[in-house]
Formats: sequence, structure tokens, C-alpha cells
Amino acid sequence: MYDADVSARTPRPFATFDRLESKVRSYSRTFPAVFNRASGSWLYDDAGSAYLDFLSGCASLNYGHNHPALKARLIEYMAADGVAHSLDMHSVAKAEFLEAFEARILRPRGLNYRVQFTGPTGANAVEAALKLARKITGRTNVIAFTNGFHGVTLGALAATGNAHHRGGGGLPALGVTHAAFDGYFSDDADTAAQLDQMLSDPSSGVDRPAAIIVETVQGEGGLNVASGAWLRAIERIARRHEALLIIDDIQAGCGRTGTFFSFEGAGIKPDIITMAKSLSGLGLPMALTLMKPEHDVWKPGEHNGTFRGNCHAFITAAAALDTFWADDSFAAEVRRKGEHLGERLSQIASRNRLIASGVRGRGMMRGLEVGGADVSSRIVQAAFAQGLVIETSGARDQVVKVLAPLTISDADLDHGLDILAAAVAVASTHAAAQPRA
Ligand code: PLP
Repeated sequence: MYDADVSARTPRPFATFDRLESKVRSYSRTFPAVFNRASGSWLYDDAGSAYLDFLSGCASLNYGHNHPALKARLIEYMAADGVAHSLDMHSVAKAEFLEAFEARILRPRGLNYRVQFTGPTGANAVEAALKLARKITGRTNVIAFTNGFHGVTLGALAATGNAHHRGGGGLPALGVTHAAFDGYFSDDADTAAQLDQMLSDPSSGVDRPAAIIVETVQGEGGLNVASGAWLRAIERIARRHEALLIIDDIQAGCGRTGTFFSFEGAGIKPDIITMAKSLSGLGLPMALTLMKPEHDVWKPGEHNGTFRGNCHAFITAAAALDTFWADDSFAAEVRRKGEHLGERLSQIASRNRLIASGVRGRGMMRGLEVGGADVSSRIVQAAFAQGLVIETSGARDQVVKVLAPLTISDADLDHGLDILAAAVAVASTHAAAQPRA
């Protein structure tokens, strides 16, 4: 049972999980603790140890753990017996979210999208986006990019690059052609022009696509950043070849890069946008597929799901929009902290050139490139031993990724980065001591 008074209890053993939980669990292997309580940027385990959270539920907790404004709205709603689950029936909670989303996000940005409430995972929002694009265009092929990650259900998995995840699919990955992401070959190779050429050549072997799906910053794929110019070129290519442009903003959205949508700076207007993770703000499951009104060709219930009406998530999502997105001040703070994060990571990289080759990412979604899993896991473990939860990203786990809450204080951000710097120094010393091959 949950018990906030950790001092009175013996820590729960891992044996329960070893005995009962599937081997598929992953984060628990990196962070061997039983977490019990969380507030702001901090997690606490069963034994009373505190950890600074630089993982934030993989960007599902952009506003930190249990933000008081969001929590208060939910407690008030539950205390009044507000509807918890409503399938996709109308509910006051849903109306409040939609009205806040229109007022705080769409209208100020001059955007006009219909909102589809999908099943509450990112993968389900992607499934809906891909199905919709195929239905609209009557085509089956979709262009996705190297190192892209879009989820692990079969449709989304086909668009995901990572061999480990694709290998778990159990069926051939169908209906997706992978193209090279911005900078995949080198800084000079124009991968957008290559894609355009492939799509223009009737003999390239690439079927005409229903859609091009892309992340502006590849969250799981190594924090590779698409430039604004490249994104605009991809948008033009999509238009030229009558394919829909889908931006997967599941990880990079909700302010992570310093604007609500990660593509705002690029000035593009995607046909479809997928969102999940930090939408609800409190870590409650909720996902959306946004489509331009002319693309809303669904028949009622054609893509459905029992948990499309998570009213608790709608309540906290509306509260998050009211609290953080009434003006640009929160986003400006995220941009300021993101710059600071970039500077500190650059310093760490330059002091540890033996293992750190550079800084990746954008906004509050940045990381250190350290070559491979040996080094990154040493860093992650050393950081955890000092009370910092931080994870890796990239096909070879070559990037140590900082996904701190966007609400983190400057002092906590620096404290976590001090721990990270020390962990990188430990890994660097270890690498220096290794005999050369
Ligand atoms: N798309 C992107 C860009 C993601 O980062 C993720 C998850 O990390 C997903 C889709 C899948 O989301 P979920 O894990 O909620 O299914």
C-alpha cells in the first residue's frame, strides 16, 4: 500500500517484480529502486532516497511531478464526483480541454485543426495518423526517416527505424519506406533533395506515399535535429507529391523545444500532428491526432478505443494550458534554460574529449554524444549512484539525454548537471585507463 511515511517502513524488495513482472520491463533495470513519491523535479524511493529526475517520464512530465495547480484541479473535480471515463461521449471535462486548446494554443498561432481523441498512447495517435493519411490518399506507402521512433504497435513500428524494436514485431514491417533524416550522411548531403529525386523517379522503386512522417528532433533516435530549412523542404516535397505531412510531436511537443509545437520556428503547417506524453501535464494517459479540417474524413467510430475519454486527463490538460500557455513567458523560460543546458553540456564535452564528441538536440531536449552503450551506461550508473535519474538515446545508446522537467529551478538544473559532469569524468577516467586495442 502507498505510504508517504517511508521512515516507518522496510524498503520493498525487488523480488516481487522479479517473480511477477514480465522480462519486458526496461527502465527498472537501469534504475534499481522502488519509487514511492514524487514532487516537482524530485523522485523519492521506498528507502527514503531522493533522486533528481532528468528523465521526466520520457518527456511525459514536462511540468514536473504532481504540479500543485494541476493536482488541485483534479482533486477538486474528483471530490465533486466528476465523470472519470466517458468513452467518446460529450463531457464537460472534454469541452473544457477543447476550449482551452483552441484559446491557448490554436488561435494564438493562427492554426486550424480538428482534434481526434485517440487511445491514450502515442503509438495509437500515430496509428490513427497513418490510417487517416492512407484513407485520404488511397495510397499505402509512407515515408519515415532513419532513426525515427513512432511507437511499437505494428503500424507505428513499421515507421520506427530501430532494429531492436522492429525485431519484436513478429510480422514483416509493411507499408513504409525509410529515407535519410537531415544530416544522416554528413552535414553537406542534401537528404531532402535525395528524397525528392527518389519520389520523382518512376523507376526508383519507392511507391507514391500517402504521407511523410517526421520528428523535428528525434527523441529516441539520438536527439538529431532537423533544420528549419530541411523541414520546409520536406513540406514542399510532401505538397509536390500530394502526400500528407505528419509531424510526430509526441516527445518534442508540449514546450520541450521552447515552443508549444516543436515545428513553430520552422514556419510549416503540417496536415496532421500527433501528440501525447505531456499533454495531460500530470502524467495521465492522453493522446491526440490533429488534422486540418479538410482531412477529417473519418466515419464515426472508424478508429476507436475504450479509453478515448479520460476525463481526469482532460481536466489536468486544461489546467496545464491555463497555467503555462496563457502567454509566452513559460516558453521564454524554457528557451533560456535550454540555452544554459546547451552551454553546460558543451563545457562537459570539451573537458572530456576522450569520450564526449559533442552536444545534440535543441531546447530542453539535449544530450551528450559519448560514442556507445559502454560509456553511456557507465555514466548513467554513476549518475544514479549520486541521485540523478538520466537515460540514453540513439541506436547505440550513444547519447546521454537530459529531459529535465521544463519547470525545474536553475539550482536543481545545475545540481543535476554537476552530478552528470562528475559521472562523465568518472567514465572518462575509466576510458583513459583502458589498454588501447
Ligand atoms: N512518437 C514519438 C516521437 C515518441 O517519442 C514516442 C515514445 O517515446 C512515441 C511516438 C510512442 O508513444 P507511446 O510510448 O506513448 O506509445
